[in-house]
Amino acid sequence: MADRFLIENACVLTQNEEREVIPRASVLVEDGRIAEISTSKINAGATQVVDAEGMALMPGLVNAHSHIMCILLRGGLGADRRLMDWRLNFMAPGQVAYTPEDASLAVKLFACEAIRSGTTAVVTNERIPIPLAEAMIEAMDDSGMRSVFALSFHELPPQGKLAERAHSHIAAWGKTFPPSLKTRDEVFEETSHLVDKYHGRSGGRVLVWPGPNIPVYVKPETFREIDEWAGARGLRVSTHVAEDPMESEVGGLPVVRHLAAWDLLSERLVAGHCIHLNDEDIRLLKKSGTKVVHMPSSNMYLGSGVSPVPRMLDFGIPVALGTDNANCNNMANMFWEIRLACLLHKGVQQDPAAITAQQVLDMATRNGARALGLETEIGSIEVGKRADVILLDMSGPHMYPNHHLPPVLAYQTHGTEVRWVWVDGEPLMEAGRLSKVSGDEERSIREEAQAASAAIVERAGLMVPGG
Ligand SMILES: [Zn+2]
Repeated sequence: MADRFLIENACVLTQNEEREVIPRASVLVEDGRIAEISTSKINAGATQVVDAEGMALMPGLVNAHSHIMCILLRGGLGADRRLMDWRLNFMAPGQVAYTPEDASLAVKLFACEAIRSGTTAVVTNERIPIPLAEAMIEAMDDSGMRSVFALSFHELPPQGKLAERAHSHIAAWGKTFPPSLKTRDEVFEETSHLVDKYHGRSGGRVLVWPGPNIPVYVKPETFREIDEWAGARGLRVSTHVAEDPMESEVGGLPVVRHLAAWDLLSERLVAGHCIHLNDEDIRLLKKSGTKVVHMPSSNMYLGSGVSPVPRMLDFGIPVALGTDNANCNNMANMFWEIRLACLLHKGVQQDPAAITAQQVLDMATRNGARALGLETEIGSIEVGKRADVILLDMSGPHMYPNHHLPPVLAYQTHGTEVRWVWVDGEPLMEAGRLSKVSGDEERSIREEAQAASAAIVERAGLMVPGG
């Protein structure tokens, strides 16, 4: 790694407080951090100079909520099914059939796609046994991406109407469901094991959080205990809030009010989805500093509804963006998520001003950094911040004309324009070639993913549509 390198002649989307766009600038990176930004030439004795003529430099994208492991279950499997059917009859048996090698391979495939489309940081939520979790974290570390592994858990099976609905969907009740319920002691044992072993690894690039998966399936006492445990260690807590209407109520209370009653809304809670909310819920989220992650592709794919994102932004909640499950999206490409987040809310609200390109770019960068608790470290291009940055080739026909960079990036970008990616100043992609895997290795990852996926389908007894 060049510890002192220079990016010259770039058009820079700084994402700083003023949202400044600098038409032509040089950016010096030293020891993994941005050391200087200048509109004139920097003579720094850099060990490497990247000429970014015709390119845009922006902060790397933060995917603040995903489920990476399931990527081997995409590819036409499990499509067009209702949430419970998809979750119980497809996802659960599929995941149970994974080996640690499969889990590692899933990360490698995801990383190739995510890095190629400009993601530099990712949070994955995984409800899996420890050997698979360790295989995933090792692979995430190897990928060079800034990585958060949230160990998800369920403690309670579905009750009442939820149980009826689960029964009505489940084809193999007792065999694959309820899947892997954990006791309070198991949750603490496993989470602390992973946190002790991996949290803060690679200069803080790898983080581990607890993940009480969905409040209705976790005892509030346990949720509170793990939340306090996380707070004492400076960790965040990843969960799902109000994704499905039936899981949006706990003990007769709307889920956000349930969480508030148990004092579980806080700066450290990272709540995925937040779809079925009213203004009182939004006020509680705002007041508590709870972080929200929006996942438009997943919400549309699973027919979950539309999150009131513009309303939350109006209230001042720094909503972040994520791709969610790799097989209810089915991509790991944040530029598509940016475009969809822009378009979805305009369409639903019948108001083209409902949300702006700049707001959604903020969601994918600055707000993502806040969700991770890293807003002083990443999310913008400013002196002193870590160099988690990407360079996009702006020369394709679809990028012309180009007058104002934020809408061009939000509406015209496919993700394939990304040519250079750095995390902590370390290159993950250089001039279109991945730095940590060779072309041959990348091809092998694709071939192995196809074979591993077929083997999982076989072991899990899943149906291949048309097969
Ligand atoms: Zn999720």
